[in-house]
Amino acid sequence: LNGTATTSPNTFVVNSPNVTYTDAEIKSKYTYRTTSVETDRNGNFVATPKETQYDFKVDRKVPKVGMMLVGWGGNNGTTVTAGILANRRNLVWETKEGPREANYYGSVVMASTMKLGSDAKTNADINIPFHNVLPMVHPNDLVIGGWDISKMNLAQAMDRAQVLEPTLKSLVKKEMNEMVPLPSIYYPDFIAANQEDRADNVLEGTKACNAHVEKLRQDIRDFKAKNNLDKVIVMWTANTERYADIIPGVNDTADNLLKSIEQGHEEVSPSTVFAVACILEGTPFINGSPQNTFVPGAIQLAEKHNAFIGGDDFKSGQTKMKSALVDFLINAGIKLTSIASYNHLGNNDGKNLSSQKQFRSKEISKSNVVDDMVEANTVLYKKGEHPDHCVVIKYMPAVADNKRALDEYYAEIFLGGHQTISLFNICEDSLLASPLIIDLVVIAEMMTRIQWKDSTSEDGYKNFHSVLSVLSYMLKAPLTPPGTPVVNALAKQRAALTNIFRACVGLQPESDMTLEHKLF
Ligand code: NAD
Repeated sequence: LNGTATTSPNTFVVNSPNVTYTDAEIKSKYTYRTTSVETDRNGNFVATPKETQYDFKVDRKVPKVGMMLVGWGGNNGTTVTAGILANRRNLVWETKEGPREANYYGSVVMASTMKLGSDAKTNADINIPFHNVLPMVHPNDLVIGGWDISKMNLAQAMDRAQVLEPTLKSLVKKEMNEMVPLPSIYYPDFIAANQEDRADNVLEGTKACNAHVEKLRQDIRDFKAKNNLDKVIVMWTANTERYADIIPGVNDTADNLLKSIEQGHEEVSPSTVFAVACILEGTPFINGSPQNTFVPGAIQLAEKHNAFIGGDDFKSGQTKMKSALVDFLINAGIKLTSIASYNHLGNNDGKNLSSQKQFRSKEISKSNVVDDMVEANTVLYKKGEHPDHCVVIKYMPAVADNKRALDEYYAEIFLGGHQTISLFNICEDSLLASPLIIDLVVIAEMMTRIQWKDSTSEDGYKNFHSVLSVLSYMLKAPLTPPGTPVVNALAKQRAALTNIFRACVGLQPESDMTLEHKLF
């Protein structure tokens, strides 16, 4: 799948002594303003404004990038592939509601904007596509490949997924017929037994081993060479696995994990083997499913190799609503007291999740998503107090990819009153997840071209931390650098992403003060 370079309109330059452009780089000097808080002898807070000077450096050359999907033949894999083909070729297809054309709706990078500033004459907001804030890869230019334990070609797999309109499918069928996933590693104990009948494209061996790591690394290298790529990003969009037990001596440190793979320990999952292969290959690896792929040893290995990792579990429907709604309720001073979430779905993901151990991975990932918001409001909640929260998922083949999510939010309002909010969310799951895959790949790639240094130190430029928590907006259970807090609140996640990208070109964080409209 080879694209031609695509450019976006509405680019801009920053006119500031703190920002310099060369053909190769954008460099900015940035003052990061925070507030440092201490507690005095009487237990009162003392808040001191603090400034830290950073230098950022952005590599401007947009590389040729490959996206390799683990689980390429699944609903997400086929949908995102067809979607990119449709966009690349500007396809238009008939539906019962009239013609529809390819777009990137649902992608923050491709379909949302941010405020650049105010018009110099009128003070009106000037907004730019998010994609233009930094020199990002265009998804139309991604070269796509990947692995699947099922050997169906992508055209047949797209039919199996039952997501896209027949008219659209007919337009991409020819190209997708030619795409066949590479054989993958299959350790039956990690995914539901009901998946066994599709596993007809598997490498020999049913537990972790060095040969598997080496074969996956070779696959990445071959793909890179064959397509003349500068870089590859690998994404796990394969079945949800059960959790791996964290066992001292087995997967708790980088060395132990490597030793366990060498010795074929049964507690190393396929997704962790993919992660290790990518880390050793210096290829960013993102986990779109809920299992604990990033056991402590895998995180340590990534840190050691300065490799980028991100995860876990795409935040597409129910949880995205939850992290927006709960953020709103609690910040409005309304005391949320319970959340009851029910889902039913009929795709292969639902079938896999009908098995208890795999469901448990999803339950854990869906359960912690309001913790940070609850903990932050010390007026509404006592220390350790939590809303009740339950998550149910049922397999209902008839609804296929059209997942249903029913949520009841129950809250305590003024003077003991109650508010009940019921939500019923229906949509093709894969049409929500595909744009997230694109965002994760484009943003992760961008992060490989951003470096920073402390302006006051002699040290040179370095990368961001291996664990890309800046991807949190797209993920249900964001992985963060060890010992750092998890942010689930959707608005904060978006602000972090936007403002970090703005800082790289020397722009202030987005501020909604609009004093220019208030002080005159
Ligand atoms: P799917 O079952 O249609 O696709 C998964 C694919 O992975 C299948 O084709 C399967 O054959 C393949 N596979 C399984 N084990 C593999 C292995 N070891 N190596 C390579 N391929 C393997 O599922 P989907 O709907 O595409 O979802 C994919 C994953 O994304 C699931 O884990 C799901 O929980 C997660 N997810 C999806 C959404 C969403 O909105 N669609 C949201 C959050 C998370």
